[in-house]
Amino acid sequence: MGGEQEVGAWDSVLLDPLSEETFITNLHQRFKRDHIYTYIGNVLVSVNPYKKLGIYTPELINQYQSKGPFQLPPHVFAVAGTAFRCLRDRNEDQCVVVTGESGSGKTEAAKCVLQFLSGPRGLVRDVIRERLVHIAPILEAFGNSKTARNDNSSRFGLYLELEFDYKGDPVGANITNYLLEKTRVTSQAHLERNFHIFYHLISGADIHLLKTLKLQRNIENYAFLLSSRSHVHVDSLDDKTCFASMKRSLDTLGLTSDEILSVLKIIASVLKLGNVNFIATNNIDGTEGCTVSNEYEIFEVSELLGCDPVLLQASLTSTTCLCSSASEVPITELSAEQAAYNKNALCRALYSRTFAWLVNRINHAIKVKKYGKQKVLGILDVYGFEVLDHNGFEQFIINFCNEKLHAVIVENTLKLEQEEYVREGIEWCPVEFNVNTIVCDIIEKNNHGILCLLDDMSSKAFEEGNINEVEEALLGRVQMLCGHSTPRRHQSDNSLPPYCFRLKHFAGTVTYDIRGFLDKNIDYVPRDLSQAMYHCDHPLLKPLFPEGNPKRMACKRPPTVGSQFKVSLGSLVRNLVAKNPHYVRCIKPNELKQPRIFEMALVAHQVRYLGLIETVRVRRCGFCHRQSYTSFLNRYKMLSLHTWPAWHGIPIEGVSYLLRDLPIPSGEFAFGRTNLFIRSPRSVFELEEFRRE
Ligand code: ATP
Ligand code: MG
Repeated sequence: MGGEQEVGAWDSVLLDPLSEETFITNLHQRFKRDHIYTYIGNVLVSVNPYKKLGIYTPELINQYQSKGPFQLPPHVFAVAGTAFRCLRDRNEDQCVVVTGESGSGKTEAAKCVLQFLSGPRGLVRDVIRERLVHIAPILEAFGNSKTARNDNSSRFGLYLELEFDYKGDPVGANITNYLLEKTRVTSQAHLERNFHIFYHLISGADIHLLKTLKLQRNIENYAFLLSSRSHVHVDSLDDKTCFASMKRSLDTLGLTSDEILSVLKIIASVLKLGNVNFIATNNIDGTEGCTVSNEYEIFEVSELLGCDPVLLQASLTSTTCLCSSASEVPITELSAEQAAYNKNALCRALYSRTFAWLVNRINHAIKVKKYGKQKVLGILDVYGFEVLDHNGFEQFIINFCNEKLHAVIVENTLKLEQEEYVREGIEWCPVEFNVNTIVCDIIEKNNHGILCLLDDMSSKAFEEGNINEVEEALLGRVQMLCGHSTPRRHQSDNSLPPYCFRLKHFAGTVTYDIRGFLDKNIDYVPRDLSQAMYHCDHPLLKPLFPEGNPKRMACKRPPTVGSQFKVSLGSLVRNLVAKNPHYVRCIKPNELKQPRIFEMALVAHQVRYLGLIETVRVRRCGFCHRQSYTSFLNRYKMLSLHTWPAWHGIPIEGVSYLLRDLPIPSGEFAFGRTNLFIRSPRSVFELEEFRRE
């Protein structure tokens, strides 16, 4: 990192004059020299280099562990280090929030934070540190996929919370995952892939494992792996090596070979079910029924899952009436189309529930063994904002998640921050900024929002069974909500394609196709299939399909996907705002996923919607740290004879004496009504150093 000082400004707060142009030029100058990180005060901006840089070594971890903020060039390790020091020195919960659009480098940044926090501190390598670094290969294998925008795109949201002991060593962690994009299991957009694990498994399993799983080496043999009829290869990913490292990670986390095999058997079953086709037949009563075209696959799936092939086939091709009280339950034959539809629902459930099981199992392996909850440090890495050629329910959920997080960040870094200065009586010239509460409201408002409409209509569709008609009615109401047409004007937006509505998100306008929204929101696994799974002689399936237990109440509908997501996102947001935040804002420099290309317009768009210039403006005159006078005195009273061993007067006066005795410029401090404000992280660091001395 030699010569770092010469390339532009480390901190955009120092740019003079400050404008969008100077800000972006600074990022560009630095990017050209591989300095991908730049600060805005304590916010880190990261520009994806799309190439391997030698800046994540254990030596650098050591350096950033021993030096404070601004003593070394901007780095994601410095953010991790600052978060860690805040946790240790102030005994407060911290969180590192990584944001940016799909492909901007969030997951890589989040992994660096984890690498830093579980990295070399002493020579001792304990079990937890070892295990923490093995989480990512597993989660990425099962939860990531190649999309149009990113070869390794996260298709779930991840929040990892680390706990440390009083010495600062990690003692355990817990993962919360947010809604996996499970439709990918059964269909993928053109040039996209299924989840990595399928390809890893087929390329990486040895011949014995393949045989046990009744799989063949050829990817082309599996319908679920052929997006638009062809297999998509990813240059940047070696499936074979990934399989080996994923297996190693599962071992390191303590999964037994039986557990690993159980998981892989489900993965193999999903692939094989994907090849099961249904052929229409005519029933005696004139209705359409169906049979399975390739019974051998059913037979093999039954062996893998430990169930009776006749029962499995019956539950795929027919349905028993739910609420019959008669001893003989009426059976309805399904059409080939219905059977295929149910089969896909089963595959998605098998996959997503196995993913949830894995996360649970990982949590078990990394959980804190000792009693007494210590302070925690959270790392948030969700799926980034995305606009595809065709945007469905999944994009709607992903983009809602990003919209909500953006609202929280704006609220925290721009709104509350400024309000606090005013409240505390600090001289302040307000900085204007955009808020996106309107879009959040359109989506999630109780009784009125799209999610609520979706739930109302989902109940209607579920009860009446006429999804297409209800979907049409839903579209009309959503369009009205989005302002495309109003009842008074009867005027609809002609530029909208059929079945679509449009939302103006903070990061860009997205046109969503409403088809599939209801279905995906209801996310129903037919009861016959969940019962069949429940009765399998496979160790994971009983707990994964509890609703298949015949003793459980029939006819009870589970909460919808949208409402569950809203609840979990709400609790995530509450969790985040209760912690001291550290932000990493990731920027994607080009759409081609290529190194050295910095597309000005693309970067400018992101800088604008992320509100980065406004952030510089607020940070420029703002303060990075605040503390009540009493707690400041408690922590630093030993730095002045006026306050040591105790100060008995009014706290603010004590602090004033104390600061006069320190070699830190007075401009670094401002006296608020209840808090002392400190301008730069460097001063906070110096205070800590003096204290340690
Ligand atoms: P999504 O929202 O789709 O999950 P993301 O923001 O998590 O996207 P990443 O998966 O972190 O994006 O990054 C995309 C790719 O960019 C990585 O697979 C890697 O090839 C490259 N990349 C990102 N950050 C870095 C980095 N710091 N150094 C080298 N390459 C990087
Ligand atoms: Mg990611």
